[in-house]
Amino acid sequence: AFRVNVVPLMRKEKIVGVVAVFRDITEIRELEKMRSEFVANVSHELRTPLTSIKGFVETLLDGAMEDREVARRFLEIINVETNRLSRLINDILSLSSIEAKNKEISRSPVNFNEIVEKVLPILVPMAEEKNITVETDIHPDLPVIMANEDLIKQVLINLVDNAIKYTPENGRVVLSATPSGGGLKVSVKDTGIGIPPESMSRLFERFYRVDKARSRELGGTGLGLAIVKHALEAHGGTIKVESQVGMGSKFTFYLPAI
Ligand code: ADP
Repeated sequence: AFRVNVVPLMRKEKIVGVVAVFRDITEIRELEKMRSEFVANVSHELRTPLTSIKGFVETLLDGAMEDREVARRFLEIINVETNRLSRLINDILSLSSIEAKNKEISRSPVNFNEIVEKVLPILVPMAEEKNITVETDIHPDLPVIMANEDLIKQVLINLVDNAIKYTPENGRVVLSATPSGGGLKVSVKDTGIGIPPESMSRLFERFYRVDKARSRELGGTGLGLAIVKHALEAHGGTIKVESQVGMGSKFTFYLPAI
């Protein structure tokens, strides 16, 4: 798409010609379109839990409160939906803060081993609930990289959290890290449900889920992988995924030293 500006060329108060300036606005249009799609998605995602909360509160006020058992069930649903709203808002805010900073994130020397030590205690209890083992295979001599520790933690949490969420009981998750090209290569591998080939290219889009109902049931926001991708890109890193339906998935990311 082009935007055209036409400027008359005057000489002695006469129009002697025109200059037309063509400006390619395809990219601007695309950005505008993506932004408005995102706003529409966000509104929809926020409205769903809100509508449910409002419905249950109104029913309680209309008399359901009299029955203690019913009241308890409704309050539990309200609690779950409130937690979802709060996760959604947190994810939306992290995503837009990473985007706003773009490549200007603050960095300090990061020891990946220490990050793993910090995030495992958050994730292992979730895995234990499903009898999933979380194994680590971390190279002893990883280089220290210049990175934003909070973002790297978030990347790791989101990937391992997904690996646990999308793996049935008694499965296995392996987190490995090796030095690579001066930086780090990290992979998160699971024995889970896998990802169909036609979904692979869309995984990192905001709010994209292979199975909406399943993601919702597992408490997903559909933003986890979008956050991962943006956080890695802000570091000049990359991510790829390999998967086979019914066999498992492997997400591998690369982080440069600086
Ligand atoms: P969600 O909050 O739905 O988990 P994500 O952005 O983290 O959102 O992931 C997007 C979708 O990618 C998920 O809904 C799921 O369908 C798929 N996915 C992500 N990680 C895995 C995995 N390890 N195994 C299978 N599917 C996965």
